[in-house]
Order: sequence, then C-alpha cells, then structure tokens
Amino acid sequence: MKNKVQFQKGFSLSEFMKHYGAEAQCRKALFQWRWPEGYVCPECRGSSYCALKTRAVYQCNRCHHQHSLISGTIFSATKLPLTTWFLAIHLLTQAKTGLSALSLRRQLGVSYNTAWGIKQKLMQVMKERDDSKPLSGIIQLDDVYWGGERRGGKRGRGSPNKIPFLAAVSVNEKGHPIAMNMNVVNGFRSKEIAKWAKRHLDADSLVVSDGLACFAAVTDAGCQHIGIVTGGGPESVSLETFTWVNTMISNVKRSINGAYHAINHKHLPRYLAEFCYRFNRRFVLEDMLPRLCYVAARTPPMPMRLLKMAEFHG
Ligand SMILES: [Zn+2]
Repeated sequence: MKNKVQFQKGFSLSEFMKHYGAEAQCRKALFQWRWPEGYVCPECRGSSYCALKTRAVYQCNRCHHQHSLISGTIFSATKLPLTTWFLAIHLLTQAKTGLSALSLRRQLGVSYNTAWGIKQKLMQVMKERDDSKPLSGIIQLDDVYWGGERRGGKRGRGSPNKIPFLAAVSVNEKGHPIAMNMNVVNGFRSKEIAKWAKRHLDADSLVVSDGLACFAAVTDAGCQHIGIVTGGGPESVSLETFTWVNTMISNVKRSINGAYHAINHKHLPRYLAEFCYRFNRRFVLEDMLPRLCYVAARTPPMPMRLLKMAEFHG
C-alpha cells in the first residue's frame, strides 16, 4: 500500500502548464467547476448570459446583473491572475510535506504577505472540506498537546502555551488507516468531546480510546466507545490498538516542525487540516487540483483580517 502511494504518477509541472498555464484555461476550468450545470444568475436564476470581454464577468440576459467568476469564492477580490492561484494549488497539493509561505513566495514570485495569504486561504479550504466529512467505522482517538510533551505528569491540564487537539484515525477491519482528522479543542472535557464527535464522527462509529474519562462522551453523538486503560506510561504507545493514531501524531509533529520554523499557534487548526487533507487524498494525487478548486469555488471569501484572527475551534 505504501508503495502504491509513493510511486503513483502525480501531476507533473509540465502537465500543469499544459492544462492551466494560461489565464483563459484557468478561467474556463474554474467556470466549469463553479457552474457544472451551466451558468446560473445569482439574482434571478436565469441561465442565459453574456461574458464581458475584458474581465471574467458574466452579465445575465434577463436581469442584467453582473457576476464575476471569483466573487463569493475563496478567490474573491484577488488581484492576482488565476494562473498564480492554480500554480499555488498545484504546488501545495503535490508537495510531499507542507510548503512554507517563504518557499511559496519564491516559486510564485509574489510578496511574502501575498504568499502567506494564499496559503492560509487554501488551507482554510482544505479545513472546511474535511470538516464537512465526518469519519466513520472504527476510529482510534487520542488526545494531544501541541507545543509540549505528549504524556506529561499533568495530563489534561496543559500550560497556556500548549494547545489541546484531538487526533482521530478511521481504520478498516484489517487495521489499515482510511482517513483522519485533527481538531483543536477547548480542553479535554466531556462537553467538548461530545460537541466534536457530533460534528466529526458519524453516529454508529466505534471509537477506541485509551480510556481518558471524557472520551466516553462520544456516546452523546451516537457512537460506541471502548476505553482501553493503558496505564499511561511510554509503553502504552506501542499498543497495537493505537498504532495508527500514534504514528499520525508523530508524523504531523515532524511534518509541521520540518516544513515550518515556527507556526503561530492560533493558526494550528489550518496546519493540522492541511496535513490531514493531503493524507486523506493520498491515493488520488492526479485529481488533487480539480478537487481543491471545486471546493475553493464553494468556499466563502475569507478576508485577511479574518484570516489573521484565531481559528474557531471544533
Ligand atoms: Zn439574472
């Protein structure tokens, strides 16, 4: 399975240039992803329109309302050509690990601020996409702190600079990982766990945890829960039940620390989402760009002001 992932073809830069190297190609593609059934006027639902020659703006033949290709999407109000966005999407989705805003800046030839904004917006798309897809089946669940030791003496009472998050991996009958999500929470309390489970797990899932008391709250979301008390020592991580969730926790820490010198803690949810998004689509490298663009066209605008604020938990 590992080899299948590592040696798949992916989407080369020359293929990218062939398909999306020109602005007109990107516009055409985005138009199709945004309106797969044909253009629909947001005002009157009319489908007959004419395209302005100079900009990617469409005018309804019935009510004359003008609507741009990017308004109402994550690309809204951008001054950059779509080719720059598409290249960013290509680079971010084909990269093996995270790509920092600094490397993105160099490869796109834009300012650091612009590269940072593009990256945060695309990570936001990834987050919203995976947040809308709950995990199901057998789920390994564990509690983690970002910025501190995983298993300290004061479990559940992290210092203020440690960010608590949940790591959940769904596995198949053979114990192979299918998908995962990692979400920052406001502490490991029953209420928080119940809220998280309702949003991120299908009812009827079977949750396996190490028995931290609050995890029983997943039953509030209709899940079954098996808590395996491990004693909490370092030997507990080798328990087969938690193999994947533990592997993913070390991988995400290594990946984020390796790709980024320091990340602002308030943006941690997006970095976690980027890691999970890539993992969840590891078998479909060739389709990464169309898939992300399709969702980007459905993700509401995210002004820089909002982007710089702390991410909502959950
Ligand atoms: Zn109209």
